[in-house]
Amino acid sequence: MKRALITGITGQDGAYLAEFLANKGYQLFGTYRRSSTPNFWRLQALDILQKVTLIPSDLTDMSSLLEAVTISDPHEIYNLAAQSYVGASFYQPMLTAEVDGTGTLRFLEIIRHLKKNIKLYQASTSELYGDSINRDGRQDEETKFLPNSPYAAAKLYGYHIVKIYREAYGIFASNGILFNHESPLRGLEFVTRKITNAVGKIKSGFEKKLKLGNLESARDWGYAPEYVEAMWLILQQSKADDYVISTNETHSVQEFVEEAFAAAGMDWEKYVEVDELLKRPKDVVHLRGDNSKAKEILNWQPKVKFKKLVRISTVPTLAE
Ligand code: NDP
Ligand code: GDP
Repeated sequence: MKRALITGITGQDGAYLAEFLANKGYQLFGTYRRSSTPNFWRLQALDILQKVTLIPSDLTDMSSLLEAVTISDPHEIYNLAAQSYVGASFYQPMLTAEVDGTGTLRFLEIIRHLKKNIKLYQASTSELYGDSINRDGRQDEETKFLPNSPYAAAKLYGYHIVKIYREAYGIFASNGILFNHESPLRGLEFVTRKITNAVGKIKSGFEKKLKLGNLESARDWGYAPEYVEAMWLILQQSKADDYVISTNETHSVQEFVEEAFAAAGMDWEKYVEVDELLKRPKDVVHLRGDNSKAKEILNWQPKVKFKKLVRISTVPTLAE
């Protein structure tokens, strides 16, 4: 039986990946951060909690990571844990660097020292591109990285250190350069769930207004359960490599707002206010992927596109 260790199993992707790997027959181990209040609601929502051996661990604590790898003895590690919110990285830049940057190195060092054939998936991100686009207005594996936030800079370190260890030590380590992916399990501070959550509350009379920042930013938004399959496919290849995972479409935050309010039969302009304080010191304004490599080599393609995603994202979750 194959064993997988998932860091960040309490997050959106961790929960969907656990569900996906359980259906593939994997023995599952997941790391979680001890906190005063249990944070397993996503695993409970997917009815997967009982199938996972949970190991307390923090990406900043090398000995707890070593313990997690020793207990799980994994064939595959999916390093999904991160300070994942770009906005927060501006007020916690050092923590973000430690978790998202050096945290990745800690796993690579453990694998190098143990000398075992452990495959590592690293959760890289389209935020690495910043304002960089190809001539056709899209971003692929060859597009230059121009990070725009402490989050992106930390993740860029993670991306490069994975490549360096792959080339220097022959470790099977791959980067998934995933564009934004959403679901009902997405954290409420991210813009898609912030919008759909507010639509529900305004519709039922609990709230009157929705304050947002930059409405012009555009994202290539996909559906998280489809993206975790791509993570698994990336580790099933004979050779480690890096892949863009995207829908190849781009839509602005305003389009998302329009679609979400329209789905509930409301006119967005009556409820949405722009709050300058919610604008970031530096933002990524245009993301649109080119998933040709994933399509060709992984045989992966997204099925859920923008309009369907907006509707799926409005399903209420246990977090509310
Ligand atoms: P979430 O924010 O939902 O989950 C992040 C996970 O990391 C949580 O389990 C969190 O634990 C854990 N975590 C945070 N800090 C630490 C730490 N110091 N030590 C150990 N665990 C920690 O993110 P997603 O599931 O959406 O994303 C998964 C990964 O993919 C992240 O690395 C993210 O940066 C990256 N990514 C995500 C994209 C997206 O659109 N979703 C796009 C591209 C990349 P806790 O629950 O305790 O907070
Ligand atoms: P990101 O792409 O990982 O930063 O995902 P987010 O969902 O946090 O943000 C997507 C885009 O929405 C960014 O360009 C934000 O600046 C923009 N945005 C506009 N208003 C808001 C808001 O109120 N909250 C968040 N999170 N993002 C907003």
